[in-house]
Amino acid sequence: MTDADWRTDAGLPRFPRLVPHSFARLIDEADGAGRLALARQIEPSPEEDVFALEETSDPLGEGRYLVTPYLVHQYPNRVLALVTGKCLGHCRYCFRKSFTARSRGFLSEAEQDAIVAYLANTPAVREILVSGGDPLTAPPDSLFAFLEKLRAVRSDLLIRLCTRGPVFAPEKFTPEFVHRLAALQPLWVIPHINHPAELGAAQRDCITALRTAGIPQQSQTVLLRGVNDSPELLAELFHELVCLGVKPGYLFQCDLAPGTASFRVPPDEGMHIWLRLRDMLSGLSLPQYAVDLPGGGGKFPLSVPALSDRVLPNSTDVSLRIQGNDGKVYRYPLTNV
Ligand code: SF4
Repeated sequence: MTDADWRTDAGLPRFPRLVPHSFARLIDEADGAGRLALARQIEPSPEEDVFALEETSDPLGEGRYLVTPYLVHQYPNRVLALVTGKCLGHCRYCFRKSFTARSRGFLSEAEQDAIVAYLANTPAVREILVSGGDPLTAPPDSLFAFLEKLRAVRSDLLIRLCTRGPVFAPEKFTPEFVHRLAALQPLWVIPHINHPAELGAAQRDCITALRTAGIPQQSQTVLLRGVNDSPELLAELFHELVCLGVKPGYLFQCDLAPGTASFRVPPDEGMHIWLRLRDMLSGLSLPQYAVDLPGGGGKFPLSVPALSDRVLPNSTDVSLRIQGNDGKVYRYPLTNV
C-alpha cells in the first residue's frame, strides 16, 4: 500500500475496509432492508472523503485526559484503557477511526504495567472500561494476562469489556474463553449492537453462553442514518436484547469523527425517536439516549427530562449549546451542513 492509498485528500488516514466473515454471513442471510443496513455500516463509501468543519480525529477529546499513553481518566470513578488499535471489523462511523486506522497491536508489558501502577495508586477508580479498538482482537492469553493483572492488583475493580465481538466474531467466545472471563468477576461484557439483523444464530448463542456463565451484559447502540433511524426497528432490537438477557444501556448520538456526516441523525430528530421509544418500550427495554460532548465535555443524556436543565437557550445559530460536566459550554450541530 502506498502513502497515497493510505491518506485522504485532507491528509487524514484512510480507514481500510475490514469485514469480518461472521458479519459477511449476516449480510448474506439478511433480507432487503436488513442487508442494506448491515452493509452500510461496514462497506466504505465516497461520502467518507467529505469532511465537515466540526469533525476532528479525537471527537471525544480523550487526549485531554490521558494519564498514561493508553489510559484515559475523565470521570472520577472510572478509567478507559485503550488496549489495542485493532478491530475485528471497521465500522465506517467509528469515533476512534483515526486511532483504529493505525492498527497498533495489544499493549506492551511496559504499557500494561503503567496502567496497573496507576490503578494501584488510585483507589477512587472503581471501574475500568477495557476497550480499543476491540480487545477481542488480542490473542486470548495476552488479553487474560492483562485482565488477571488488573484483578490481582484490585480485587474490587469492576471490569467492563467493551467489544463488537459478539456480533463480529461470536466464534471467539469458546467455552474456555467464557469460563476464563467468568472467573474474573465482577466483570460485565458491553456488546456493541446496532440492528436486529445482527442477532443471527451464532450471535444469539454467544450472548446466551455469556449469560449462562453468569456474566452480565449491557449493550450500546449508535443511532445511524440509513441503518437504525427508526423507532420501530430500534424497539424490536431493544426488546430482542432484553429477551436474550442483555440490558440496553445506551443509544448514542453519532460522534463528530472525520467523514461521518452521512451517518449522523440530528439530535432533535434523535430525541423524537427516543420519545417514540419511550412510548413503545418498558423502562427495562429503554436505553438512555446520550451524546459524548465534542472536545471532552463528557457523556450527556439527551433523553428527557434530563435534557431540560443544561441545554442552554440558543436563538442565533444551528447548534445545541450544552453545559458539560466541567462547566464549559459545548456545541453539537443541529444539521450536517
Ligand atoms: S468495533 Fe468499535 S472501535 Fe472498532 S471500528 Fe467498530 S466502532 Fe470503531
